Amino acid sequence: MKTILVTGGTGFLGSNLCIRLIKEGNRVICVDNNYTGRLQNVAEIMNNPNFRFIEHDICEPLNVNDEKLDQIYNMACPASPPAYQGSYSIKTTKTCVLGAINMLELAKQHGATILQTSTSEVYGEPLVHPQVESYRGNVNPIGIRACYDEGKRCAESLFFDYHRHEGVDIKVIRIFNTYGPKMDPNDGRVVSNFICQALSGQDITIYGDGSQTRSFCYVDDLIEAMIRMMNSKKGFTGPVNTGNPGEFTIKELAEKVVAKIGGNSKIVYKALPKDDPSQRRPDITLAKHKLDWEPKIKLDEGLDKTIEYFKTQIDLFKKA
Ligand code: UDP
Repeated sequence: MKTILVTGGTGFLGSNLCIRLIKEGNRVICVDNNYTGRLQNVAEIMNNPNFRFIEHDICEPLNVNDEKLDQIYNMACPASPPAYQGSYSIKTTKTCVLGAINMLELAKQHGATILQTSTSEVYGEPLVHPQVESYRGNVNPIGIRACYDEGKRCAESLFFDYHRHEGVDIKVIRIFNTYGPKMDPNDGRVVSNFICQALSGQDITIYGDGSQTRSFCYVDDLIEAMIRMMNSKKGFTGPVNTGNPGEFTIKELAEKVVAKIGGNSKIVYKALPKDDPSQRRPDITLAKHKLDWEPKIKLDEGLDKTIEYFKTQIDLFKKA
């Protein structure tokens, strides 16, 4: 049994990870300020004796003196563009940067391995396609996505400096678009928006002309990659791309969702937000080679599972 701390543990990915780690017999300490996470995401493990929830904002230092930590997954951060571009923008940079420092200090104190959930956003509007880890990206440092993109880039830099200068055992993954159960119906991301709009008979909102692409990974595949990376050979730091290389236009996604759910929803077109990347697809050669990992769940299968989940959540979806 390992003692594992997960920041952002009540969020979409964090809660899926906590549940899997508990099922595998670990002791899990879930840390979240619940700004964008939801306690209901961990309701099924809340009373498990191996699970502990600490309400805490990682912008502040965290001491864990009563338990020895083996591993830390640093996942806390608003991750949906409407969340980090709105009132949480400055908080997003602080969470990335101060949060990384505080969690790296905690890892150093405990001699724990720490995994950073970085992002495909470090590539910005990519001029290399598909994106390989050696590509340094094309980020607008003063744009509306910069709080997240530059925050995550700075966090990567902090991780590598703590590794070089403080000997901290680090692992860095770059997560591409991921979807599945426990997404917040109101967080504004494309998969949750399209499914909830179709289920509630509203128009499906495509931003721009829908020709931009994304590559969507089902959450169970992503969690598997995270755990493999955390437990990879000592000294292997990454960064490693984790995502599904199946690439779709946003229009194709909308059409798939409409075909699956039916109903009266029409597709409507709205303005494309600034700096919205036109294409994204991970090159996962490194993950295949180092982690013996590749996604197994195709978009159609994953969407079916996600639609079933959102049917149980539809009362929570804000009507436009
Ligand atoms: N998008 C859209 N309609 C929506 C929400 C998002 O067309 O209701 C587009 C968005 O402009 C972007 C893509 O879908 O091009 C993915 O957006 P998301 O917010 O899910 O994640 P991103 O990859 O931009 O971080």
